Amino acid sequence: MIEVPEGGVAAAHDIVDLIRAKRDGQALSEAEIAWLIDAYTGGRIADEQMSALAMAVFFRGLSPAELRAWTDAMISSGRRTDLSEVPTPTVDKHSTGGVGDKVSLILAPLVASCGAAVPQLSGRGLGHTGGTLDKLEAIPGFRAGLSASEFVRMLSTVGCAIAAAGADLAPADRKLYALRDVTGTVESIPLIASSIMSKKIAEGTSALVLDVKVGSGAFMREIGRARELAETMVSLGTESGVRTVALLTAMDSPLGRAAGNAVEVTEAVAALHGEGPADLTEVTLALAREMLALARVAGDPAAALADGRAYAKYRDMIAGQGGDPDAPLPVAPHSRVVPAAESGFVRRMDALAVGVAAWRLGAGRARKEDPVSAGAGVICLAKPGDRVERGQPILELRADEPARFERAERALDGGIEIGPEEPEPAPLVLERIA
Ligand code: URA
Repeated sequence: MIEVPEGGVAAAHDIVDLIRAKRDGQALSEAEIAWLIDAYTGGRIADEQMSALAMAVFFRGLSPAELRAWTDAMISSGRRTDLSEVPTPTVDKHSTGGVGDKVSLILAPLVASCGAAVPQLSGRGLGHTGGTLDKLEAIPGFRAGLSASEFVRMLSTVGCAIAAAGADLAPADRKLYALRDVTGTVESIPLIASSIMSKKIAEGTSALVLDVKVGSGAFMREIGRARELAETMVSLGTESGVRTVALLTAMDSPLGRAAGNAVEVTEAVAALHGEGPADLTEVTLALAREMLALARVAGDPAAALADGRAYAKYRDMIAGQGGDPDAPLPVAPHSRVVPAAESGFVRRMDALAVGVAAWRLGAGRARKEDPVSAGAGVICLAKPGDRVERGQPILELRADEPARFERAERALDGGIEIGPEEPEPAPLVLERIA
């Protein structure tokens, strides 16, 4: 690491020179990037300068060598979790986020029940896609904040843990992501890839399956961009010695029938009993098979769902993190149904519309310090392909305050299409990138 004087501005490199160089399309050296990320994390580069640099990266991109150096610098800004004491192979999954995406709640115990350890460090949700921790925190007593030793103990005894990423996991990303969020620089493939992969590599997993969502409710709406993001992340993981595979999966409709927090836990528990919606089960099993193959563990995840091993492991994970798997989950006190406007087949149920509705009902947050409602959310009583009659309830909205219904209903305007013809079933797993 290059020495920078305490409290001083830019000793080893001049930040303005680096901004100009990137603005003009020149590549930054490894040493320049290492200095840049270190100086920004340490508060020696001003936010406005880093914003300008992030915007230059947004337009000019990063070469593979620059991206490698950028990601390494973000990993080195914090501590890499040491999972060497965990006796079984480790493998994690990361999803780029979707509506109704409760896959982690099922997948972590499912894969652990087949013999691999799943070390999942996760974040809270922001915007219309919910966060895994918000969902788990709907369970009375559940504790997402584990110390490093508690995390390793959970992995060594139960075989899985889903915990909050600590402040020392890639702190450069924490600071830079917050800056990107308010400067219009989130949607850059190298910045997204380095942000996600720095956290996953620092987490210490040996293998990683990426679920890159594609469609209206996803970060990436077009398959070409999703493929480019997936390829970039797979290369970063592989070059760092983390065996990495990505699946591109559809996110045009909500996954499963529930979008919210407690409502998604209920659906995940049904799936762990082998009684989940077909789309949720299909995506979960596809990811589980990839994870077990990468961990080189022979196991049949469909059998583990059917014979109760996955559910037993879920109970151990929840109890191991202080939660009561038998406690009743919070239920929002108010509900309202949305009726079908006409008779026919549901042809489209827009994931973004449902996600924004769930968010406005209180299930999500607009700013990272906002609380979320555990009971709020949307239940899809019908899904694309289902036949409905005019007036039949197709969605159930749940909220803590009735005043939330109107804005949620507005989010759904134009998001549901019913027509005379049955839609063609659409594939869920679109591509595999290794
Ligand atoms: N998720 C992240 O962690 N980082 C990004 O940049 C985008 C999504």
